[in-house]
Amino acid sequence: MVHFVGAGPGAEDLITLRGAKLLKEADQVIYAGSLVNPKLLERCREGCRILNSAVMTLEDVIEAIQTAEEQGQMTVRLHTGDPGIYGAIREQMNRLDALGIPFDVTPGVSSFCAAAAALNAEYTLPGVSQTVILTRMEGRTPVPEREKLSGLARHGSSMAVFLSAGLLPELEKELLKGAYTEETPAALVYKASWPEEKRLRCTVGTLATCAKENGIDRTALVLVGDFLSGTEERSRLYAPDFTTGYRKGKNQT
Ligand code: SAH
Repeated sequence: MVHFVGAGPGAEDLITLRGAKLLKEADQVIYAGSLVNPKLLERCREGCRILNSAVMTLEDVIEAIQTAEEQGQMTVRLHTGDPGIYGAIREQMNRLDALGIPFDVTPGVSSFCAAAAALNAEYTLPGVSQTVILTRMEGRTPVPEREKLSGLARHGSSMAVFLSAGLLPELEKELLKGAYTEETPAALVYKASWPEEKRLRCTVGTLATCAKENGIDRTALVLVGDFLSGTEERSRLYAPDFTTGYRKGKNQT
């Protein structure tokens, strides 16, 4: 059996209870390189085989899993954040399906959640934005034409940009083709939830210089949108006059 497990964004106590239990029981752990906190691997039992997938191909990973399966051993495939976001898990699942090897997925706290937490920010503010776009710049991995950043930027929604800390001059240009301006609030969160975390608030127009001045070119999320400025507007959900399935609003019949 293979368990895909979300390791969370970095801090060792941000893995789920289920993920931690599976890690403790595993005969083999294949972890996703430097984005996984090595402290998590200390939870593995003695004798557990620990492999770093940063130096492996998909074929190597599947071979290691297959060998373990033949010996009746359980593998945890440990991905950073949540495995369902840029985790490259579907290609592994396809191979496992073809080999008849069963698997399941334990979700994790994605870095986009940890980054908002680091800034005490809420992506979905009343009157500001009710949508979060999770995306990336096109790099060596292509992005479908209809999802080009300039197109997504037309919405002016809250945005979390993955895998793009090394492409900030280009990112700025793409964002400015949409609804954002040079002054739109932005932030860089480097290694959210790790001891070396950095939180840098800037604007769309200063993203690249801010990253350069602070030596950030990887393992960072770029957050963009007016949600970073906050709002004084309050939610309907907790308004005294708002009736819900659980609470009758004041002065409502
Ligand atoms: N599955 C992961 C994303 C993997 S892609 C998740 O759910 O978070 C790798 C990218 O995620 C990095 O380039 C960076 O943009 C972002 N990332 C991962 N961990 C991070 C962290 N702790 N802080 C900031 N960004 C992080």
